Amino acid sequence: AAASSGGLVAYADSGSDAAVEKPQLPQRKKVVVLGTGWGGTTFLRNLDSRLYDVQVISPRNYFAFTPLLPSVTSGTVEPRSIVEPIRRVLEKKGGEIKFWEAECFKIDPQNKKIHCRSNIGTNLDGNGEFLVDYDYLVVAVGARTNTFNTPGVVENCHFLKEVEDAQKIRRSVMDCFERASLPFLDEEERKKNLHFVVVGGGPTGVEFAASLHDFVTDDLSKLYPSVQHFVKISLIEAADHILTMFDKRITNFAEDKFGRDGIDVKTGYKVVKVSKDAITMQNPATGDISVPYGMAVWSTGIGTRPFIVEFMKQIGQGNRRVLATDEWLRVRECDGVYAIGDCATINQRRVMEDIAEIFRVADKDKSGTLTVKEIQDVLDDIYVRYPQVQLYLKSKQMNGIADLVRSAKGDAEKESVELNIEEFKKALSLVDSQVKFLPATAQVASQQGQYLARCFNKMKDAEEHPEGPIRIRGEGRHRFRPFRYRHLGQFAPLGGEQTAAQLPGDWISIGHSTQWLWYSVYATKQISWRTRMLVVSDWTRRFIFGRDSSC
Ligand code: FAD
Ligand code: MG
Ligand code: MG
Ligand code: MG
Ligand code: MG
Repeated sequence: AAASSGGLVAYADSGSDAAVEKPQLPQRKKVVVLGTGWGGTTFLRNLDSRLYDVQVISPRNYFAFTPLLPSVTSGTVEPRSIVEPIRRVLEKKGGEIKFWEAECFKIDPQNKKIHCRSNIGTNLDGNGEFLVDYDYLVVAVGARTNTFNTPGVVENCHFLKEVEDAQKIRRSVMDCFERASLPFLDEEERKKNLHFVVVGGGPTGVEFAASLHDFVTDDLSKLYPSVQHFVKISLIEAADHILTMFDKRITNFAEDKFGRDGIDVKTGYKVVKVSKDAITMQNPATGDISVPYGMAVWSTGIGTRPFIVEFMKQIGQGNRRVLATDEWLRVRECDGVYAIGDCATINQRRVMEDIAEIFRVADKDKSGTLTVKEIQDVLDDIYVRYPQVQLYLKSKQMNGIADLVRSAKGDAEKESVELNIEEFKKALSLVDSQVKFLPATAQVASQQGQYLARCFNKMKDAEEHPEGPIRIRGEGRHRFRPFRYRHLGQFAPLGGEQTAAQLPGDWISIGHSTQWLWYSVYATKQISWRTRMLVVSDWTRRFIFGRDSSC
């Protein structure tokens, strides 16, 4: 145990390191999973549920395929085609997993209990509250929409986060068209009713605006010929551009396409107030402007759920905005608690925090200096523990650590360079600039769920063989490699059967062929054959008959 504590890489789980042989426990450890979204469901699907006593708690008894929510708002895809009952997912695991439809409202890490509340049933005390014990807790509760406390947003805007939201938006679009068609309205009022405002130029806002535009031009304009020329779609973004997380080429293409489509993209405008009839926005040049609208969708980003904020205060993370975990997805200072997906963020360890330790471990011969060979011997460890080093070398087009060392020394010629601690520090001083925060996406949440399930599946083995199945050269050993995200690319559907994609290696592809790639990827990613069938038949139906405008 003493040797391991000096390593570059820490032990992955908090299980006992003591040499005492523990008798085999007759009872399986209790794993409690909060949430049945991307993180929770992927975790459950990959977990070997024979090893644990598993309980799942979520206020929704289904998994929703969120990337297709914008398609639900226009009736391209039916709501039931993108949801899978969680009990079906669990049934496939052999029916050993318990599910409670309830929400957690408090985590008690001292006593390893969570407080839950059901909204559909009451106990003898007249409320729906109950306690659940855990040995391991997997927090995968996602995030809430962030209004930035803008007045009137909650009362007057739609969100696009849940299946119900998408259904409400669809109904509301139809209501706006019917209202605008009523005989007693004047032109101004028809215009107002058919002004659709989307706040937030991120992937969700952009995709929604595009799908609404398609719905209007392909289908509704035929059904409402007398009012169709009153329709206006505005997309409001506070930054200077939309889709800022994508490559510049995609941003430009999207802005141009929306311009041609007649979608009014207002960048540099911040919405400051929403009332029943008008939306007020601000721009340094124009000051406040108020525009009448028929329907508004708010999609400006996500925030932390209130009970997670409380939990963070309890565990000394009160000064943070998002719950932090280490690279093994463990919540720090909180035995047995893990967090994945949108509710958490990984606090990547900085090289500079550990530089003395890295130097000590690498300096095998205790000479007080490091040769290139000494550094190379621990390089694999360093790359695993601090991925930013590799990213940094790549960004500087350096071939390896030797380049970095020589550039720190300033004399590229000499073969036998040696670095003292100060020089080593200098060589690595900039690598932490490459620390990346992972985006709040389904891709990240599901990879984390899968990673964590694999760790859980091996945990017992790891407890019996504390050295761990994975050995890394150098002094330190750890049982599991830290979580490593693999970016598989991201799509931005832009309407008119055109999609932009940013694939690994910054490969950009835009157009109709990318739309087909989008169709095939999203068909493949469906959680079951049932939803895959439904989604594909919805798409086919749309191609033949158009979108369904009845609600
Ligand atoms: P979620 O999937 O949100 O799941 C949270 C779960 O926790 C839910 O089951 C919820 O009911 C439950 N829960 C909530 N509160 C509690 C509580 N108190 N107790 C217990 N359970 C609770 N990502 C992509 O990668 N690609 C896309 O194309 C894409 N498109 C998107 C489109 C839209 C419209 C939206 C809204 C999101 C999209 N995302 C996309 C993002 C993606 O959906 C999220 O990043 C992902 O859902 C995060 O997974 P999660 O498990 O952390 O949270
Ligand atoms: Mg989840
Ligand atoms: Mg989800
Ligand atoms: Mg996250
Ligand atoms: Mg040495």
